[in-house]
Amino acid sequence: MKKLWSQTLQFLEALHRGNIKNKMQVYTFISLFISLFLIIESYLFTNLGLEPRYILSLLIVLLSAWFGGIGPGIFATLLAGIATYYFLLDPRGSFMIGENFDDLMYLFIFLIEGTLIVMVIELHRKADRKRSEFLGTISHELKNPLTAIKAYAQLISRFAKKKKETTITEFAERIDKQVNHVSEMVNYMLDITKVETGQLIYRDEIFVASDLVKEVVKDQQVITDTHTIHFTSLTDKTVMGDRYRIGQVIINLISNAVKYSPHAKEVIVQVVGKQNGVQISVKDFGIGIREKDRNKMFQPFFRADNVKRAQGTGIGLYISSQIVVRHKGKLWFDSEEGKGSTFYLWLPAATD
Ligand code: ADP
Repeated sequence: MKKLWSQTLQFLEALHRGNIKNKMQVYTFISLFISLFLIIESYLFTNLGLEPRYILSLLIVLLSAWFGGIGPGIFATLLAGIATYYFLLDPRGSFMIGENFDDLMYLFIFLIEGTLIVMVIELHRKADRKRSEFLGTISHELKNPLTAIKAYAQLISRFAKKKKETTITEFAERIDKQVNHVSEMVNYMLDITKVETGQLIYRDEIFVASDLVKEVVKDQQVITDTHTIHFTSLTDKTVMGDRYRIGQVIINLISNAVKYSPHAKEVIVQVVGKQNGVQISVKDFGIGIREKDRNKMFQPFFRADNVKRAQGTGIGLYISSQIVVRHKGKLWFDSEEGKGSTFYLWLPAATD
């Protein structure tokens, strides 16, 4: 039951982002929903003597338009209108106009109301899409000047080093560091807009999971002088997915482990085979996660108050969770406040 519920939520999220390309799936889902609501309406109608008429159907129209847009919204309006008229109003099981002429009036009003709801929601979705596209364009445009600033800062630094100008070298290196930070945020912004508009493209391939983790650990160790990152692997199972995006998830977990354990010196990364898949764990001995924050960790822009002055945007785990869902994997954590956290990533093994 829990699985069905979480699959439904995943489906709705993907639908809302326009990630479900199979239209048959969308319309079958709406038809199923409408059947379910018709049964409820029929129960209220016949057993309780209530006359909800189209009230519940309006809810389906609203949900269909919200999640699926104009096509599914109009489809839900027509289907719910016709089905309610045919199955629930007298004479039942027929399209004949009964004695009660009001029924036709109700149907007419329902169709108009449904269409209006769909139009208003579509306008809202359009404005939302425009905002995301605008953010995406700005982020994209910011990339070129940032690359240029970075290149010049590095040139200045090299030039100043040659001339033994230590203050200028230091300033140029600071510019370089700040540009790295802004570039990271710009990349996150680009990714989040792509996730929200369903444009994050995945290039799937089969690869050995532990090879990727080993590479990421090596790269992260180069840029970390405060912690030693220990790596062990007990499996050479392969997984199928976008190597770059999965690498991005692992980078996020390791850099968080370092960032949120300022007083520790070690991070432990392990790869093991588990339940027909590969489990990657990243353990730190840092600030940990408070009980009250545990449900919010994968929400966009969430940052706990115990992070103090650690820099961040609160987007990394959200994007990571979206990437993991796309790969039919799981992302979760265990944590004890003040003692540390372990983040786990499980991915299904590649099949032949
Ligand atoms: P960011 O690190 O940029 O804030 P993330 O989405 O990666 O964004 O993380 C969201 C929040 O989750 C962080 O701000 C922090 O509060 C918490 N968090 C993530 N990883 C850890 C960790 N290893 N230990 C403690 N808190 C963490």
